[in-house]
Amino acid sequence: MEQETKQCLTCKNNFEIRSEDFAFYEQAKTVPPLDCPDCRMMRRLVFRNERTLYKRQCDLCKKDIISLYTKDSKYTVYCSDCWWSDNWDPKGFAQDYNPNKKFFEQYEELQRKVPRLALMAINSVRSEYTNGAADNKDCYLIFASDANQDCSYGRLMQRSKGCVDCAFIYDSESCYECIDTHECFKCLYCEQCQSSTDLIFCYNMRNSNNCIFCTNGRNISNSILNVKYTKEEFEKKKEEIFSNYESIEQAKKEFAELKSKTIVKYASQAKCHNVTGDYLFNCYDGVRVFDTSDAKNCSYMADADGPIDSMDCNNYYYKPELCYNMMGVLQSSKCKNGAFVFYSNEVEYSENCHNLSSAVGCNAIRKGEYMILNKEYSKEEFYKIKAQIDEQMKKDGTYGQFFPSKLAPFGFNESLAYDYYPITEKEAEKRGFKWQNQVTGTYGKETLKEGDLPKTISGVTEDILKEILVCTECKKNFRITKAELDFYKRMNIPLPHKDFECRHQDRMKKRNPRKLWHRQCMCEKNHVNHTGKCSNEFETSYAPDRKEIVYCEQCYQQEVS
Ligand SMILES: [Zn+2]
Ligand SMILES: [Zn+2]
Ligand SMILES: [Zn+2]
Ligand SMILES: [Zn+2]
Repeated sequence: MEQETKQCLTCKNNFEIRSEDFAFYEQAKTVPPLDCPDCRMMRRLVFRNERTLYKRQCDLCKKDIISLYTKDSKYTVYCSDCWWSDNWDPKGFAQDYNPNKKFFEQYEELQRKVPRLALMAINSVRSEYTNGAADNKDCYLIFASDANQDCSYGRLMQRSKGCVDCAFIYDSESCYECIDTHECFKCLYCEQCQSSTDLIFCYNMRNSNNCIFCTNGRNISNSILNVKYTKEEFEKKKEEIFSNYESIEQAKKEFAELKSKTIVKYASQAKCHNVTGDYLFNCYDGVRVFDTSDAKNCSYMADADGPIDSMDCNNYYYKPELCYNMMGVLQSSKCKNGAFVFYSNEVEYSENCHNLSSAVGCNAIRKGEYMILNKEYSKEEFYKIKAQIDEQMKKDGTYGQFFPSKLAPFGFNESLAYDYYPITEKEAEKRGFKWQNQVTGTYGKETLKEGDLPKTISGVTEDILKEILVCTECKKNFRITKAELDFYKRMNIPLPHKDFECRHQDRMKKRNPRKLWHRQCMCEKNHVNHTGKCSNEFETSYAPDRKEIVYCEQCYQQEVS
């Protein structure tokens, strides 16, 4: 079919359905979406509470646990040990399908009864405050992060060691306040750097060391503002920046100013072909793909690794294929409209399922096939009832669409949706989402006033571990951990003045949004591909009113690397 413009059922904005999209929907045996890509993404993301943690009891063993659900949540919540144990049977909640009742009403009944996992963390060692995480050791408040050691306060930290307050950091060690960083050692306040050591306030560096306030550097060392300095001058500058809290805050401002004047590539893409989006590595053929590597023929996707022939998926890892509208998938194929489906095939409208094939409306199944609403059937019966469900959903207009907003187990503001779409409570309500009014943490209990925080780390003793601090921005109380204090001491960094959530939000604001604008290359130099103004156009996550000098791939390559 030809490309078509449609109006989004939810936000009323127009959106395009490409001819490739139509082909995909046909292959995936589904119908075109009624919502625009953003509204679709929002609905999926509300199924993911990544960082909002509460204290409560496990409903089975009654132990005190850390959980994604409040203690008065309407769901039954089990700790990891209990959830994975044989002390309960998910199939014991089986329901018969009732053709005279709406499918989603029946699924909601099941969803309310079946125990949910308090946290999603596997193989963690002394890392109770982590979620969406695996194989972490001695880590604290890190999320969507795997195989780290001694790391605290971060999102998407992978295979790193001793890093604090970082996001989207990979294979790195002893870094602080770094974003989109690969294979770096002892880097502080850096963005988009790779294979580098001892960088401070640097942007987009490769194979460099001992640099301060440098941008777009390749194989450089002992430089300030991209100019070579002596070792002594370099050390002096470093000391000046780290002399106290205010001098670091000043340096942050200078760095932001420096970044706003730098040449940037229209998108952070490496080894990519025919794909629009940002923060991509080795991706081919697709539109609106973000934070993804090794994708082939995927669109409307974010936070994915190795996806093939899929659309509308988030947190999608280990080479999943042919899935549509999924939140949280590991190594599955042909799954549609579900959340947290792992090692499964042909599963629809299901949550928290593992090793399941051919299923509809299942919850917490750990192994099974031909299942509907947690009940097992013969192959023939399964397809007969599935056809009835499809027929009924076509009649009520929900066929092929994601779970309705009200079935999301979290409030909009507790979920990852709020990170990317910070809408108001009123707007969330209008869209049918829930809102969490119960707050985590405390306010007004501080034992150390805002202004009394030490300006340097040198005089700080372990007495600080007993103090309750207050965030200068949101006024929430927070504490310093022993591991964190040791890190600040070792790196000569003053105590933070904000709580971890405000620090996280500050980092997220430095990254470009998951939005694209059509723009033209700003290069007016003479390059092999043009004289005068470059005529190349592209889709970029740099909004037209931003100050950065945005270049196309060709011009960027000639200027920077
Ligand atoms: Zn919309
Ligand atoms: Zn338990
Ligand atoms: Zn150009
Ligand atoms: Zn140019």
